[in-house]
Amino acid sequence: MPLLACVFYRFYTLHAVAVPRIIQYMVKVLFLKRADVLVVVLLIRIVEPVDGAILNRNDGRLTSEGLEIVVRGVTSRKYDKVFVNEEEAEVDGDRFTCRIVLRGLENRIVAFTRGSGCADVITVLWDKNSIKRYRFSVDDNILFLKDLALNSWKYGSIFDNDFLSFWRDVHEKYGTKVQFNIFYQTEGFKLSEMPDKYKSEWLENRDWLRLTFHALQEKPDLPYRNATYMEMKRDYLLVTREIERFAGKELLSNFTTIHWGEAPIEACVALRNCGIEGLVGYFTWNYRGPSPYETVITDKPCVSYYLDNEKVKYLSRHDYWKDMKTGIVFIRHDIVINTLELGEITNHLNKVAEDPHQSEIVELMIHEQQFHHSRPEYQPDYEEKVIEAVKWVTDKGYKPVFYDEGFIGA
Ligand SMILES: [Zn+2]
Repeated sequence: MPLLACVFYRFYTLHAVAVPRIIQYMVKVLFLKRADVLVVVLLIRIVEPVDGAILNRNDGRLTSEGLEIVVRGVTSRKYDKVFVNEEEAEVDGDRFTCRIVLRGLENRIVAFTRGSGCADVITVLWDKNSIKRYRFSVDDNILFLKDLALNSWKYGSIFDNDFLSFWRDVHEKYGTKVQFNIFYQTEGFKLSEMPDKYKSEWLENRDWLRLTFHALQEKPDLPYRNATYMEMKRDYLLVTREIERFAGKELLSNFTTIHWGEAPIEACVALRNCGIEGLVGYFTWNYRGPSPYETVITDKPCVSYYLDNEKVKYLSRHDYWKDMKTGIVFIRHDIVINTLELGEITNHLNKVAEDPHQSEIVELMIHEQQFHHSRPEYQPDYEEKVIEAVKWVTDKGYKPVFYDEGFIGA
């Protein structure tokens, strides 16, 4: 190989290592050995929106036709004409922009140049009926179910339990819908011991109550970080079949949060194949307590399932995103209430509200443990904290929803 070609080869090899892997997929480097000359051809790539983006009224302009959005991308300079679906894009050097209209729920967008064979295709979803909405989820639940089972001889109602009685008060006052993500077992109790005597009452309250799989049990931490397909499926079915038996399948949701929010793609696909359509997480990086939203200290994603830095970065600034490959919708928690002091809750939510891409869907979350005197995590102002957050969303006009209703709750 002549010297010049070697230099070219070295440059492009180094360059290829330096660019993120995702761009490498999009850039086809063609090594034409003819006369030992290296030719690099950059094709065409849509940069914005991202594949799997879920777009709503805050991402464009609503017209009588649909949602008008701007598509941005990069192209090699040799192409001066770029098209996006039926429109011709504005090309400026190696960048293009184009306005297009989304008309349906699922929209494929193709950017291409005539006759070159160069094209990039993405799919985006239009959240057509989007409104400001919120859901309350409670993680790590098992103690209230144990109480209902142990006292079933004297309880006539699920609301004889203090914890559920508190949540019913919140629902009755503010209309809040609450999803409890639950364990299969804890010391001295398994869901298989949960009596079905309350079943009709669970069903009567299905308009505001959900029960879904969270994990087998509380400890050890990060139980699904290395889970296989079969391990996740086994635990999911263990919990789900019990919920169906003692409460009814109507209480289940196809959105849940896995304990510690980390699992490999194969385990998440197992959940998807079991009917789970969405997973909720922090989509942040390892942090030093107390709040995951305060200080980003490493570049390693946490509570982000199997998603890489690039996806986590996107979700850290957006309410939701769909992985088109696995078919899983990811939704970001906006607040973990037990990690904040009572006086910090309103400020935190005001900050979330500053960005319309993060505040269309507000996911309020708290854990069960801090409610109970018997637990070392007990927080005496647990109820006040919950009410503070619920008052905030109510005052701001958010509608209480479940994500399994309509299109992600709208
Ligand atoms: Zn958990």
